[in-house]
Amino acid sequence: MDIYCPVCGEPWDHNELHDVEGVRFEEARRRFASEGCRVFGSTHNSTVDTDKATKSALLHELLGDDIDGIAALMEDLG
Ligand SMILES: [Zn+2]
Repeated sequence: MDIYCPVCGEPWDHNELHDVEGVRFEEARRRFASEGCRVFGSTHNSTVDTDKATKSALLHELLGDDIDGIAALMEDLG
């Protein structure tokens, strides 16, 4: 399932949080909630998907470490 960058709305497979070099999943998850794409060493999209980014930022704030819940709700919200 995909999670979305809270800054630019870029979709990422949530499993990629397991592959962030030098940090554990929990740390990667926490950083993704604030930094988004930058955790993966990527830059943010120049065209921001405001709708996805806003929803994602809100869900990360509300659900915290429930990454599966965040991904599922993002899918439900479209
Ligand atoms: Zn981004």
